[in-house]
Amino acid sequence: VAGAPAAGGPNAGAPTIGGSSLATLDARNISAWFGDHQVLDRVSLTMPAGVITSLIGPSGCGKSTFLRILNRMHELVPSASLAGEVLLDGDDVYDTGRRLTDARKSIGMVFQKPNPFPAMSIYDNVLAGLKLTGTRATRDDKDYLVESSLSKAGLWKEVKDRLRAPGGGLSGGQQQRLCIARSLAVKPRVLLMDEPCSALDPTSTRVIEETMLELIDEVTIVIVTHNMQQAQRVSQQCAFFLAAQGTPGAIVEYGDTEAMFSSPIDSRTFDYVNGRF
Ligand code: ADP
Ligand code: MG
Repeated sequence: VAGAPAAGGPNAGAPTIGGSSLATLDARNISAWFGDHQVLDRVSLTMPAGVITSLIGPSGCGKSTFLRILNRMHELVPSASLAGEVLLDGDDVYDTGRRLTDARKSIGMVFQKPNPFPAMSIYDNVLAGLKLTGTRATRDDKDYLVESSLSKAGLWKEVKDRLRAPGGGLSGGQQQRLCIARSLAVKPRVLLMDEPCSALDPTSTRVIEETMLELIDEVTIVIVTHNMQQAQRVSQQCAFFLAAQGTPGAIVEYGDTEAMFSSPIDSRTFDYVNGRF
């Protein structure tokens, strides 16, 4: 693995971990299989608090698999297995003493295709994850949580007068922001986003990018994107994944996003970020 995040780079001045809910996610030597087909080979990556990390690389190189391993969704696939460790501020996410829902609560996920509950109201969609936490909230708490989560997701002004309307009636971009609000409502420490803008128009994409940048002091963000401009606009750290012919996916290079785009160390990174494969 070449390159490392620059010391004193974008992370400098970020809130300290101990004093806030911001957490560093650390993947160590992650290998993954579906049956006996290995799709990731010893991937290690630190995703620091206060930093947006983007994962880039061609289709099929294991980016989604890696993301799903980070919050234990990988194990939902019966044929899936893995090796390695995922640490959230040093705590083992795979600790068998902890409930699966603990990992899901701390580490939220937003998918490429917006997936609100279509018939459920916007209001209830935002609160849909609360059961996961076992939180009992008063009506006032709920109202506050709905407003603050929708505001953070950049959707409040557009929907505040129709909170009882079904989530499925919103535009694609609004639905994706609703899903972001739903994730934020459980106060995750990390938000994983798998190509969250690929299905959206440029305007919605912009709004979501702005939202991500505003969340930087609140939640550690990891985003998979095929959009090189997006990676440069939103992320301070970038990791390039590649599955060379017949081999499992691995990280070729990672580090400061600007440095990786302007002066990549590996020629394969250079070719990829310049659209040559
Ligand atoms: P990416 O997100 O980079 O496009 P994926 O993580 O989706 O890559 O896929 C990595 C490899 O794992 C691919 O070869 C894909 O076919 C395989 N794969 C992904 N999900 C499954 C699954 N549920 N069962 C079997 N193979 C899978
Ligand atoms: Mg994918």
